[in-house]
Amino acid sequence: MTNREIILKCTQVNYRYMRLPAGKVAGLEAMTELYKRIASQSLTCAQAWVQDSPCPNHEPAVDAFNWAIVAWSDAFGLSMGVDQVEWGRVFVYPHDEFANYLRPGNPPEPLPTVDGSPANIILTLDALWTELVIKLTARWGLLHHLKDKDAMIEAQSLQGELQNPDSPTYKAYLESDLNFFRHLFKHFPFSERTRKHINDWLKKAEEAL
Ligand SMILES: [Zn+2]
Repeated sequence: MTNREIILKCTQVNYRYMRLPAGKVAGLEAMTELYKRIASQSLTCAQAWVQDSPCPNHEPAVDAFNWAIVAWSDAFGLSMGVDQVEWGRVFVYPHDEFANYLRPGNPPEPLPTVDGSPANIILTLDALWTELVIKLTARWGLLHHLKDKDAMIEAQSLQGELQNPDSPTYKAYLESDLNFFRHLFKHFPFSERTRKHINDWLKKAEEAL
């Protein structure tokens, strides 16, 4: 598979899984609707990319979402402790290429690396990623996304929930994330060693459920 085909797979997985946890959690309806739009447009743009066509029109939040994934993936690899050179080449680089296809430019500020248990790392980075999506959406499409004000407010409140292990939202997101990651990572040609590292690490995160 080429990098473009891998990213197309990712957008398909995202389209199927991304909306599950939010759908289960009350009070995130507007955010879920926005995420569905983003996931569907990301998929359409990735299909065009595979065919080497110009990027179809998409909303600024799609750029924000995918550039934030670039920032997230850097921090996620460092926090998991995988081989950084391999992680950068196999996982970060294709995402970076796709973000540049959507909106050419410089990557946003990197997310900090996070310490703690794997579960804590996953959800803290989720919260930081969400915060970055909101920030970049406002920076690149404030007027366009005024209609999504409720979604932004919901996303902001979600950030707090994701830092609280006693919240049902925390568990719902962790479960859904783990499901999502397993489907996502299998499309990337990691070495056996890195694949084992990732699987062991995700298993540890699962113990928090
Ligand atoms: Zn596009």
